[in-house]
Parts: sequence; structure tokens; C-alpha cells
Amino acid sequence: MKNYIKHHPWHIIEEGFDPKLNRISESIFSIGNGKFGQRANFEEKYSGDSLQGNYVAGVYYPDKTRVGWWKNGYPESFAKVLNAPNWMRINIRINGESLNLAKADVKKFSRTLDMQGGVLHRTFTAKLQNGITATATVQRFCCLHQTRQAAFHYSLTLDQDAEVKISSYIYGNVTNEDSNYNEKFWTGVNTKAGGNTCTVITETKKTAFQVGTSTVSTVSHGLKNIPFTSSDCNKKTAKIATKFNAKKGEEIRIEKRAAIVSSLDIEPTHIEATLYEEIESIKHHSFEDLCSAHKAAWAAKWEESDIIIDGDVSAQQAIRFNIFQLNCTYTGEDERLNIGPKGFTGEKYGGSTYWDTEAYCLPFYQATADQEVARNLLIYRYKHLQKAIENAEKLGFSCGAALYPMVTMNGEECHNEWEITFEEIHRNGAIAYAIFDYINYTNDKKYLAEYGLEVLIGIARFWSQRVNWSENQQQYVMLGVTGPNEFENNVNNNWYTNKMAAWCMDYGREALAWVKEHHASEYTRIMEATNFNESEATKWQEISDNMYYPYSEEHGVFLQQDGFLDKELIPVKDLAKSQRPIVEHWSWDRILRSCYIKQADTLQGFYFFEDEYTDEQHKKHYDFYEPLTVHESSLSPCVHSILAAKLGDEKRAYEFYLRTARLDLDDYNNDTRDGLHITSMAGTWMSIVKGFAGMRVRDGKMTFKPFLPDNWKSFSFKILFRGDLKQVTVDKDGLSLK
Ligand code: BGC
Repeated sequence: MKNYIKHHPWHIIEEGFDPKLNRISESIFSIGNGKFGQRANFEEKYSGDSLQGNYVAGVYYPDKTRVGWWKNGYPESFAKVLNAPNWMRINIRINGESLNLAKADVKKFSRTLDMQGGVLHRTFTAKLQNGITATATVQRFCCLHQTRQAAFHYSLTLDQDAEVKISSYIYGNVTNEDSNYNEKFWTGVNTKAGGNTCTVITETKKTAFQVGTSTVSTVSHGLKNIPFTSSDCNKKTAKIATKFNAKKGEEIRIEKRAAIVSSLDIEPTHIEATLYEEIESIKHHSFEDLCSAHKAAWAAKWEESDIIIDGDVSAQQAIRFNIFQLNCTYTGEDERLNIGPKGFTGEKYGGSTYWDTEAYCLPFYQATADQEVARNLLIYRYKHLQKAIENAEKLGFSCGAALYPMVTMNGEECHNEWEITFEEIHRNGAIAYAIFDYINYTNDKKYLAEYGLEVLIGIARFWSQRVNWSENQQQYVMLGVTGPNEFENNVNNNWYTNKMAAWCMDYGREALAWVKEHHASEYTRIMEATNFNESEATKWQEISDNMYYPYSEEHGVFLQQDGFLDKELIPVKDLAKSQRPIVEHWSWDRILRSCYIKQADTLQGFYFFEDEYTDEQHKKHYDFYEPLTVHESSLSPCVHSILAAKLGDEKRAYEFYLRTARLDLDDYNNDTRDGLHITSMAGTWMSIVKGFAGMRVRDGKMTFKPFLPDNWKSFSFKILFRGDLKQVTVDKDGLSLK
């Protein structure tokens, strides 16, 4: 755990420069606008340790799978989030030496992320090896009001007269650190440089996505504009440069605006013309005007999604950080896009979509943005239904059974560990659950007739084929699965998965009946499209009514899986600190045999299906499983925070909240350097809304069961519910709704 980020309600602040923390800060200070985003790399040259990252939504490369031992059914490739051409690079040479904080003596340094306005600020004073001291102030943003544009302003002064050479370029020769075979993923299509503009159009190998980037740069010194005098291009990089004599103490002002588009939205033949139009439009606005329009767009976002905490700056900063990053990652206009676990902040995890979206992120977008946004998240999966059916066929299922991938970009499975790819099938359930959740929240029942039912049929069919009748149990069982707790593989009868499967079949039947009654013609269309036979639903009921659930009479709890009680049940509190996290200290074999739970598993089921169980059952299960949980997934603390709140354990609810909310800011898991845990950030939001405020939607009404953490004076948040924007405030006097 680190503790170097200064607390402030609206700002994330780092003071002083420690190159060892640079990758962490590059992640934390990331910015984006839903269409593209970037790590907080420096604009000027930096030769120290850094993960360079610019990412364009939906643009990926299928990197050839690398596994030790091939298993039939593995995907051929893993779709990677791509490091894209870098629009913001500049090089500043002062009397022949590059301004490079890795080589200079950094006297002063600060980075501030203004979350309210969505602007990244940096200031520094650094003494170069040639004795010249440079002082800089930089501001940068990815426009939220025009999501094809970005800009920075760089103000520099020197303590002596010097010859300054500035080159401004788009660097397209980028690579991914996580490339499996050190391949370069891009080929150059077209580069141009001249006057004050640069253009680079590159294309991904195999997937043939084109990304076009154009920049317009200006340099002025004192009151004089300095024209660019030379240009240079190679296959993937375009550069312009200028040289002038700078006067001591007089401001050198560099501005760069960029347009970034991709063939996801623009026909490749029109990319260059579109870039031209974007640059023409952006160059006529002053930096200040652009910045105000961008800030106004952020103000509108905050109007719908802010959470205000009075009395605890650390918690306030943290929740805003989570909300900020969620809004940087996904804005929901495009149903082809989704929420990658690292968003635009790093490469790790590839793919863009995990069950995280449905199980953790949907509630946030549902309640803080127009209904279309959540609907688009569901339609994303609807559009992948055929691929999910093919995916199931590949594994031996038939007749329209659908298995959604564990990790995907375009509907195809990317993941290649048999115990996850083939066994962590509970993900299918989360996709069905999200349809239920969305309709429960919005009342958009028509969604079932338009899209939802077909998905539910595919999923229910899968479960009905995945179970088998056990003569021994005289019930249906499900063998060889991995539950949400990935520290157990290939287990029989994971309670959560069995429960999910039965629920999906029940919900599938309910949805069939509803669509049949209310949308007869759609029902006929769906019956034909899916080749559905009503006897299938009878079978689903039979399976659901006769599903086997492992249970311990002695403890009064459902068992995570068959045989769970054979383990040595030693609570996590008795584990030596030096052994944690176990994933870093123990062999996989030891982890698998242990009782330790990575993240909510049985408790995930209690979280989803809470109304089916009594408070006493909740408490028994929570008291049994939480002490065995190591919370080594970022998705773990939030569910436990919500459950603890439900059980009235306010202290624990608050502790879990802090852990999820400041996970990245304080680098709890020692992995912020790889990127932020974007999907668990939605879980943080849930900890406040569903946990502390106890908000639920039942029978079309919002209900609350609030509590106020001891050290908070109040908290309040906005909720969009069925067309109304409501403000919920919880203070010492209770809850009020406006
Ligand atoms: C968790 C999964 C999750 C994935 C991506 C893993 O560590 O165990 O549940 O889907 O991370 O966030």
C-alpha cells in the first residue's frame, strides 16, 4: 500500500517526483472521454521507466494465443486493447540537450488531476545537465464535448537565454508491452507533415482497423509566433520542428490540439477528410474556449453522477475518483463498446468485456445516465448472441445453447485457461441477471420482446445441457466448474453456479410467458428465429425444481461446492501477514487446496438473490464465508461492503468501502502500475448507494435502508430513476429525497 496521493475533495494531487512511482501515477492520472483515453505519460521526452499508453475504444488486435499446453476449444487469439499512435509527443531541446525529467535534476514537481473539469495539470522545475533551469506548467484534456478531440497547453520558461528546438510529432511506431510474440500490431497507411500540422493514419494487422490522428501545433515566445520550419515523415510517424533563441524568463507557449478518429465510425476512405474537418474546427478555438466547453461537459456529467460526502475528504476524493474514471471509460452512445477492466489506463486483461460489466457496472450506468446507456450495454451482448451460440457449439453444445465468453471484444472468446474458459461459466448467469436488473430498474419490459428473450433462451438452453441427472443424488448436478472464486477450479456443484443456472431457467420461462401474452407477434418471430419448442421450457422447470445444492446441516449454510467442509477451515485472520496476498506467496496447488476464497462466491449469490433468503440466513452465510475470504480480487470488497451494511455491521461496511474506494489511489494490491481497476470502481459506487443508503428497487419503487458512517456528517447522491433525477441525502436525521 502507498500513501503519496494528497487528499482533496476534487483533485488528485502528487507532489514531488519519484521515478519509482511513475508508472503508478501514469495510471492514476489517466484521462479519457469514452472514445479514447491515455495514461498520464509526459508530453516531452522521458527516458525513465514508463508504460506508454494511448487507447482508442473498440480498436483491438487478435494476438496469437500463447499457452504451454494446447487444449481443444481454446481460442486462436486473445483480442488486445491496443496501444495506439501517440498524438501528444513533443521534444524540447535546450542548447542541444533534451528536456527529460529522467536525466534532469527535478527541483519541483506536481501533478494534479482536476476531476471536476477533467483536466490534467503538471508543473515542474528541473535543472538540465547543461545548467539551464526550466520551469513548466502543462494542462491537458481529452475533450468530452467533442469526443474526437484533445488538446494540451505547455508553458515553459528558462532561467537563461538559450537556443530552443521544438519538435512536435505523432508517434505511430508504438508497441504493446503485453504482445505475445513481440509483434508490432500496426502498419503505416499514410503520414503527412507540413506547416503546423501532422497526420498519421495507421492500420491494425489482421483486424484492419484504421486510426487516424492529426495534430495542429503552435509555438509562441513572448508576443511572437514561431513558425515550424521543417518537417519529416516516416511510415508511422510525422514530425514538424522549429528552432529559435529563447530569452531568459520569457514564456515559451506550445499548444497542440489533436483529432483522433477510427474506422469504427468513419469509412477508411473518409478518415483523412474527417481529420481535416476536425482540425479546421478545433484550430479556430482558443485553448481557453476549448477548455471551458470541455469543463461544461464534465459539469453536466457531475450533475447526474456526483456523490457528495461531508466530513471525510479521503472518502470524498476516492468516490469522485471512481466516478470520474468510470465516466472517462464509457459514455454509452455506442453499443459496440464496453467497459474494459483497465479502461484506457493500461494493457493488462486485454479484451474489453468480462462479467464485470453486467454484475458490477450496469447499476452505476443505469442510475447515473440515460436509459439508453444501460440498454446499449445489454444490446452489446444481444449482438454477440450468434457468436455465443458458436462458442457453445465449439465446446459440444447444440440446438442454440449459448455460452458467452469469459473475455471478449467482438463476441469471440479470448481467454485460454481451461479452468476459466470452459468452466467459469457462471458468467452466462450474470448476463441474464443484467436483463432482469435493467428491467426491474427501468420498467423497460419491451426490451424482453425486442432483444432480451432471445438471449435468455440461449442461456437457459446452455444450462439445461450443462447439468446432468445424478442417479446417486436423484437430482440435477453440475460438474467441473469454476465459481467466481477462482482459487478453486474444476469443482462439482458450485452453489452459486447451480443457483444461477436454476434462476436463469426460471426467469427464461417467466420471460417467455410475458412476451407471449403481451407481444404475440414478437413471440412468434422469436419462436421461429430460435426454433423454440415449448417442451424445452417444461424441461427447464423440471431441472430447476430438482437442482442439487450442497448444504451443511451442521453449519446451516449452502456449501460453496461439494467437499468444501473437507478443507482445513482456518480463518484469514490467522494467516501470517507475510503470506498475503496468497496469490503472490503460495503455489497454485496450495491455493487450490486451501479454504481461501478470492472474492464473493456463495455471497455473490446472496447479493443477487437477497430477497429469497432471510436475514438470519444472510448472517449465517456472511459469518461463515467472509472470514475465509482474502479479497484478492478488486471486485470483492464492494459486495462484502453491501452485505455488511445490510446486516447492520456498519464498521465493516465502511472498512470494505475504504478498501474498494482507495484501491488504486493507495495502491492496495500493488498493481496500480498496470492500470486502474475500472470495473470495481462501479462496485465502489454501489457500496455507497446500495450499501450505505441501502437503496433497492422493488415493485417499481425505490426503497432505502440508510446508515451514516460515524465520521461522515452526511452524504448525498443523484439518481436517475425512470426519467426523474432525484437527490438522495443521508445525514444524522435520516434520509431525504428531493
Ligand atoms: C476476477 C474476475 C474478473 C476479472 C476481471 C479477476 O481477478 O476474479 O471475477 O472478472 O478479474 O476484472
